Amino acid sequence: MTDDAMGRPRPEPGPSGDPISLAPAAPISFAGAISFGPDAAPVVAEPGSRNDAGSSDPVEGKLLIIGSGPAGLTAAIYAARANLQPIVLAGSTPGGQLMITSDVENYPGFPDGIQGPELMAAFRAQAERFGSRIIDVDIERVDFSSRPFRVWARGIEYRGDAVIVATGASALWLGLESETRLRGRGVSACATCDGFFFRGKEIAVVGGGDTALEEATFLTRFATKVHLLHRRDSLRASKIMVERAFAHPKIEVHLNTIVAEVLGDSRVEGVRLVTTTTGEQRHLPLDGLFIAIGYMPNTDLFRDILEVDEKGYLVVRDESGSQIEGVFIAGDVHDHRYRQAVTAAGEGCKAAIDAERWLELNATPSSSALAGQG
Ligand code: NDP
Repeated sequence: MTDDAMGRPRPEPGPSGDPISLAPAAPISFAGAISFGPDAAPVVAEPGSRNDAGSSDPVEGKLLIIGSGPAGLTAAIYAARANLQPIVLAGSTPGGQLMITSDVENYPGFPDGIQGPELMAAFRAQAERFGSRIIDVDIERVDFSSRPFRVWARGIEYRGDAVIVATGASALWLGLESETRLRGRGVSACATCDGFFFRGKEIAVVGGGDTALEEATFLTRFATKVHLLHRRDSLRASKIMVERAFAHPKIEVHLNTIVAEVLGDSRVEGVRLVTTTTGEQRHLPLDGLFIAIGYMPNTDLFRDILEVDEKGYLVVRDESGSQIEGVFIAGDVHDHRYRQAVTAAGEGCKAAIDAERWLELNATPSSSALAGQG
């Protein structure tokens, strides 16, 4: 994740890039330290695991961690140092939202900032140093109905006496080819992360909800003008936010307006807009475009098993727990308030400590045996 001004994670950088949040979304290939991506060969198991010979025998461990953003990898660091030898099912595009973030300037400890992929490579190396097994596969199915908990990925069954779910959330995008091409080159989904780069510039925010209005208002600190582009004739955001936006001298609201194309070769130069009521098209020159049309938690595989709130985020009980004993939750998959790399990392730490303590009190024959092999 990227941390925005409020410390929330961010998906994409501005002109020079910026920080962010976590959960895997679109496949991305990074030139950064960690090499994965959709074309990377999956690491099915590390030496010593039960399917070294390529068999489909289950891979067993005391703790499974699902997700490899700041929450999942921090959980792995803590769990590995507690000798739990965690198995991290990292996803086929590991690293979470920070992998699509360039400069991360609000993660503590890096006064000059750090590239998102570089930061996640360091998280990963630290987790591996203490014995985490990180496997770059997307999970396909889970069964938490009894212990050991079971998770399947690419035909392999993984078993754990405890599980930490840290699958994150993904920013929603418009889905335009030009939007994808110019991400990090003026297209961003994180005003808090990237607003700083647009000092003295003219920019636009897409969306009509509270996030869009909040981001538009925040961006007026930097930009000379902020255009709010919304597809319908009324804004969805709360009344007070709408009133503030309309009253703000730097915000111009464009209703019934769709972004048909982001213009520019190597960086954003403007947008092509369509007025939905008339079909009229026009170009609006801009230096940056912020997409603020919402986030989606990566909870598809858990919705029927774990409690979700009205927005689809997992519900946490007692700091890092769920309604299933032994299943823990960390990061953006439940947190739609802060969405920061640093808060997700903190939650990963908490979940690992809680899992370790829970395992100590609830050892099964299999986990005891594994502990003996440790
Ligand atoms: P919302 O779902 O509330 O709003 C998303 C907005 O994006 C809507 O206006 C929607 O349009 C628009 N949109 C969605 N898809 C597209 C698309 N493909 N093209 C163009 N526009 C699109 O998400 P938010 O992130 O704004 O808010 C999520 C929740 O978080 C809400 O409950 C909100 O109240 C809360 N929140 C609260 C804040 C606060 O209290 N300070 C701050 C931020 C969020 P349409 O209206 O036509 O559907």
